[in-house]
Amino acid sequence: MAATHNHAHDDPRTMMAGHGHDHAPESPRDRERKLTFWERTYLPEVFKGLVNTLKMMFRPSSTIDYVGRDSRPEQRHISAVGYRGEHYLKVDDQNNIKCVACYMCSTACPAECITIVGDEAPVDEFGAQRFKKPQVFEIDMLKCIYCGMCVEACPKDAIAMSTTYNQVQTKRSDAIYDMQRLLKNNDEFMQSLNLSPSGKDATGKYPLSPDGCGPDVTHGLQPFRVGTREGGA
Ligand code: SF4
Ligand code: SF4
Repeated sequence: MAATHNHAHDDPRTMMAGHGHDHAPESPRDRERKLTFWERTYLPEVFKGLVNTLKMMFRPSSTIDYVGRDSRPEQRHISAVGYRGEHYLKVDDQNNIKCVACYMCSTACPAECITIVGDEAPVDEFGAQRFKKPQVFEIDMLKCIYCGMCVEACPKDAIAMSTTYNQVQTKRSDAIYDMQRLLKNNDEFMQSLNLSPSGKDATGKYPLSPDGCGPDVTHGLQPFRVGTREGGA
């Protein structure tokens, strides 16, 4: 049987010129379903959203309290052992700063965020020169990349990083930690570990490793927990 198909009928040019099909193709807008009265008010969807919100309010939280104040341990954010948080400057048993202003940390710092000005080396009563001390010791925490190179470089085990991570500053200048702040960090961190300012425990031992954390001092520190709650991350 001979084919009688008319190709001119399918030719888009013919169709565009108004020949062939009499009706324009249906646009997506034409195919849109007509909304009902209630759909047009959006009220059912708003109500469904509210019901969902109410249901979620009574479900256990799937977030972790990062400040660590939640009474349920499984809900607290706990930094990993060895976590590199805020720096602190260490003191010895006589409460003297251990830093000797050797500039090794500031030289090693890839972010160039440590500023040190060394004081003159003091002379003791026997005329002997003692170790230098810093006159100025500042870390710009906004520039710091928390790499820990300063801690590695220090020959005197004088600087370390605590597990404190919740820094909040409202001014840029507050993010520049001076010596006073870094020594205060030491006191607070040692206190939180029940250690003396020089890092000594009740038995007279120094349980912290030079970088700040040690296996003997866990004080609740555990490896970083991820996804402790259903579907949590
Ligand atoms: S942690 Fe790294 S970037 Fe921060 S002060 Fe130390 S060396 Fe510099
Ligand atoms: S913290 Fe350590 S490396 Fe840095 S200046 Fe003091 S002694 Fe030197």
